[in-house]
Amino acid sequence: MLNIVLFGPPGAGKGTQSAKLIEKYQLVHLSTGDIFRANIKGGTELGTLAKSYMDQGQLVPDEVTIRMLESEADKSPDAQGYIFDGFPRTPAQAKALDQFLASKNTSITMMLALEVEEDELKKRLLLRGRDSGRADDVDPAVIQKRIDVYRNETEPVRDYYQAQDKYTGIKGTGSIDEIFERLCAAIDSLVK
Ligand code: AMP
Repeated sequence: MLNIVLFGPPGAGKGTQSAKLIEKYQLVHLSTGDIFRANIKGGTELGTLAKSYMDQGQLVPDEVTIRMLESEADKSPDAQGYIFDGFPRTPAQAKALDQFLASKNTSITMMLALEVEEDELKKRLLLRGRDSGRADDVDPAVIQKRIDVYRNETEPVRDYYQAQDKYTGIKGTGSIDEIFERLCAAIDSLVK
């Protein structure tokens, strides 16, 4: 299996690149943010809970997030591999993911981390807020909070994979196709 953690701060382009990568490598896309948004739209209890955190730019608690991710992954038992987008966001989530994959006799192949400067992130998020109406992309204070949460709570996840020698940094600026080519080159050099 090819199991990729696509990592990076909010606005780094994880969703955009995931859509291209799943097509090329025939992977299943697991985006915890997308699953939370689908639950909000569907008016589920999980959606109501998640929204209370998302609107503040804070992380949804690990236990809820991990359980949701695992049940979503279990919906595609025949997958050739997964792209984890926006997950894991804490070291506890990363450990839980390792255990979950080990129980399926597989593991994370690599982490690809999109690197983008903070000023550029803020520009992209405000644009997305204007175009998509995503609630957490509209308010500059919430955007700042999400970037701060990323630095404080999520960046340690990078060290977790670095310690396993699974980390690759990818320049996340340039055209969508240029960034995609860098990601594919990193995958192909490892997998072939
Ligand atoms: P995203 O679409 O990945 O930018 O996520 C939007 C929001 O959903 C985040 O700001 C968090 O509130 C929540 N969220 C998404 N993924 C996770 C996760 N792995 N752990 C905790 N909260 C998450």
